[in-house]
This record gives sequence, structure tokens and C-alpha cells, in this order.
Amino acid sequence: EGDWPRPSKQRVITIANQKGGVGKTTTAVNLAAGLSMHGLRVLVVDLDPQGNASTALSVEHRGDIPSVYQVLVEDLPLKEIISPVPDMPNLYCAPATIGLAGAEIELVSLVAREARLKRALEAFDAIELDYILIDCPPSLGLLTVNAMVAAEEVLIPIQCEYYALEGVSQLLQNVELVRVHLNQVLRVSTILLTMYDGRTRLASQVADEVRSHFGETVLSTVIPRSVRVSEAPSYGQSVLTYDAGSSGAMAYMDAAREIAFRGAAVAGS
Ligand code: ADP
Ligand code: MG
Repeated sequence: EGDWPRPSKQRVITIANQKGGVGKTTTAVNLAAGLSMHGLRVLVVDLDPQGNASTALSVEHRGDIPSVYQVLVEDLPLKEIISPVPDMPNLYCAPATIGLAGAEIELVSLVAREARLKRALEAFDAIELDYILIDCPPSLGLLTVNAMVAAEEVLIPIQCEYYALEGVSQLLQNVELVRVHLNQVLRVSTILLTMYDGRTRLASQVADEVRSHFGETVLSTVIPRSVRVSEAPSYGQSVLTYDAGSSGAMAYMDAAREIAFRGAAVAGS
């Protein structure tokens, strides 16, 4: 399989859901890996103080290294913090350190506090990037708002579990607020069903419900629950390199392909 189409203009996709543990980071890392393995140049911006995306990509994020924190709060140029991901030629990461937790508060008093990530991304010209995937923290605070202002697309991972849709309407309201007040071009382009357990009826009921509600916005690909997916980060790898033949790896590759080939549909809200 050869290269996938290069988007006519750079796509910035914010991966958001204020619920923790729904697969935001896993999705950011594995979609980015999949796209990069097909010749697209991809940057993952880690906006979660936990730094899980940085860890999964084997990118240093000790407390004392310059990270997204310095970019947002101290105007450090993005190119000063970006690291190439080891053994992944087209993949880059802007790491988060735990200090980023303080940024939620410190940003409040700064000029253009909602647009600081956007400005940093616009000023970045060291590498011609096709995709920027932003991994959000599990909250709707200023970090997530910065991610929504910097992007045209929001990707919402939804875990196929009880209470899956809890919080999603609040998330959609926030996307709408950002669209109206701060970023007219923002839209929910993609919903991805994650951690699907084919053995349970609940999972298929949740998937049906999400599809009937959001229609075309939902990718056809569903990510299965797979031990390989959860093991990969501890080896500092995406599941696509850790175990390319596993069900989780193949699903994330399919999801990345769908995103690369489909035009971004508008949310059915
Ligand atoms: P979030 O970033 O939304 O908090 P994560 O991506 O960190 O969620 O996922 C939460 C946990 O679930 C992690 O331990 C991750 O390894 C695991 N996980 C994510 N996706 C899958 C999957 N498809 N199969 C099995 N485990 C998964
Ligand atoms: Mg996360």
C-alpha cells in the first residue's frame, strides 16, 4: 500500500472529550502513526499535563524540559520544543510536562489567552506538516479551548460503554460556543467508536445509538478493545509498530485511512 493523499491544506484536528479514559490519547497516537506511515507528515501536540501521548511516542517529557507549557505561557517558538519520534520518519511530537497543569490558571491573565496555541502553530514553519493532531486533557478548560481555537476539526472518541453519551452534549455545546465566539470554521468532523467489545450487546447498542444520532460523522471503522493497544504505550510505541497484525492495529490503520480519504463531514447536530 502506497502513500495516502496529501490534504490540499493542512488539517488540524483536536481530539476532545472531557471524560477521561475514553481513548483520546490512544487515538491521537495511533492515528498519527498510521498517517505518518503512509507518507504524511504529522505532529502530535500533547496538551495533557499527564504527558501520556509523549510517553507513548517515546518523547522525553521530564519536568525540566521545555514543553507546550513554555509555548503557551512564555511564547517560546514551537520549533524549540518539537521532537522527532524515534523510528517514525514523518512523525513529530510537541511534549507536555506536568507543569502544563498550571497553565490552566496562568493563561487566564494573558493576552489572547484562548488563541495562544493557534498563534504558535501558525508561526511554525520548520517542517511542512500535513496533519496536526491535538491530544486534549479530560476537561473543558482553557487548554481544550486553545485546542478548539487552533483547529478546524474536532474528533470525539466515544467509548462503547454504559454512559457513553454522558457529557457529549456538553462537549457539543462547548464546540458551538467556541465556533460562535472564537473560531467560525470549527466543526465536529469525526466521531470514533473506541474500546468496542463485540461480545456484549451493550457495545453494539451504544454503537447503534451513536450512529443514529451522528450519522455520517461516525467513522465506519470501530476500534475493538484489544490488550495489544493497551500494552503498546509501555514500550513507547504505537500499536501499529508494536503489533501490526493485531486487531487494534488494523482498526487504527483503517480509521486513519478513512480520515485521510474522506472529506471532513459536518456533524449531524
Ligand atoms: P484518554 O486519553 O481519553 O484518557 P486513553 O487513550 O489514555 O484515554 O485510554 C484509557 C486507557 O484505556 C488506557 O490505559 C489505554 O491503554 C486503554 N485503551 C485505550 N484504547 C483501548 C483499546 N482499544 N483496547 C484496550 N485498551 C484500550
Ligand atoms: Mg489522555
